[in-house]
Amino acid sequence: MNTVVVGGGVIGLATAWQAIRQGVTVTVIDPAPATKASHVSAGMLPPGNEQLYGQDDLLRLCLASRALYPSFVAELEEFASAGFRRDGVLDAAFDDDALAALDHQQSFQEALGIRTERLTAAECAKLQPAFAPALGGLLSPDDGAVDPRVLNEALITAIEALGGTVVRRRVVRVADHAVTLDNGDAVPFDRLVLAAGCWTHHIEGLPHDAVPEIRPVKGQILRLHSDRPLLDVTARALHKGSSLYLVPRPGGELVIGATYEERGYDETVTADGTRELLNRAAAVMPDVGALRFAEISAGLRPAAPDDLPVIGPTDVPDVYLATGHFRMGVQLAPVTAVAMAAYLTDTTPHPSVVPFTPLRFSS
Ligand SMILES: Cc1cc2nc3c(=O)[nH]c(=O)nc-3n(C[C@H](O)[C@H](O)[C@H](O)COP(=O)(O)OP(=O)(O)OC[C@H]3O[C@@H](n4cnc5c(N)ncnc54)[C@H](O)[C@@H]3O)c2cc1C
Repeated sequence: MNTVVVGGGVIGLATAWQAIRQGVTVTVIDPAPATKASHVSAGMLPPGNEQLYGQDDLLRLCLASRALYPSFVAELEEFASAGFRRDGVLDAAFDDDALAALDHQQSFQEALGIRTERLTAAECAKLQPAFAPALGGLLSPDDGAVDPRVLNEALITAIEALGGTVVRRRVVRVADHAVTLDNGDAVPFDRLVLAAGCWTHHIEGLPHDAVPEIRPVKGQILRLHSDRPLLDVTARALHKGSSLYLVPRPGGELVIGATYEERGYDETVTADGTRELLNRAAAVMPDVGALRFAEISAGLRPAAPDDLPVIGPTDVPDVYLATGHFRMGVQLAPVTAVAMAAYLTDTTPHPSVVPFTPLRFSS
């Protein structure tokens, strides 16, 4: 079976790698693999949080991916480092409302079997000395983060090492079991996976209702640098009803994100975005202004009409979708990839992906 994967973000790359491991011949087509949302992403792999309250299907999908992450990474690290760390996520409360919300979060996580430790203000200060005084915290010691830039590179290395092909071109159209590229070349396929993030529905040639509109939700994100890591563990700072995440990397990089902006396909970075992130960071980490500026970048989160992932076969024979992962694509890459590889080899996918069928949008 010859499968073409359109889109080389983390979802397309992870899908391609898992399919190749199952014996599928795969060509990934992308003009610039791993340069869009999957490149700017923070790579937070948080435990359950308020976004999942009452969203049972999404919660099951997240838990399945969380369970798969260690083996997914271990298999990938046969080829290259995947930039994965599972040394804890600290939720630190900086006001009374946030502190009260931690009670709810702790019972929610513990009911799911996610280990938590409640921290006093003094324990938070000891764990994360660079923070302003927090009122208390919740540590999830079995969660963490991955560096998406390292992960994406590892996926490309593994795909190519196993005989997969990465073609650096844009797909314009699908017709008669072939995709047409922007240079006019046609690439035939037995099966096609569209994983082009928020550009997925722009690919021509498919019936209108086979591919839902995937809305871009812009996020700006900041990267600062210090000689040694300023924070010891990945953290979310809960303050004034919002959560700011701070992801330290081993080399001294600190990733601070992110904004949520509905501005269509606008990928510009702005002074306002930078100021918003710096102000929010300074409120919880007073010395942040002294760090070296490394990068401000923007990416477009791919959001389906119901803001949920879109994974599986469409009603067009041999055409599959893997998109719509919105703010969780890095987190959900393992379960999506394993499920897509099952679909592509005619085996039963992980049950947690079934509710995310693209057929929910067909008329
Ligand atoms: C600021 C920010 C922070 C984030 N933080 C996190 C986080 O901490 N944890 C988490 O889990 N998620 C996070 N996300 C969300 C996550 O990054 C996305 O859900 C994920 O990257 C989506 O991956 P993707 O492969 O579907 O899309 P993308 O990474 O956007 O990749 C789509 C690819 O398709 C290609 N493409 C487009 N059109 C065509 C075409 N016609 N032909 C061929 N190729 C095409 C593009 O070049 C691109 O490489 C964050 C996102 C942003 C923006």
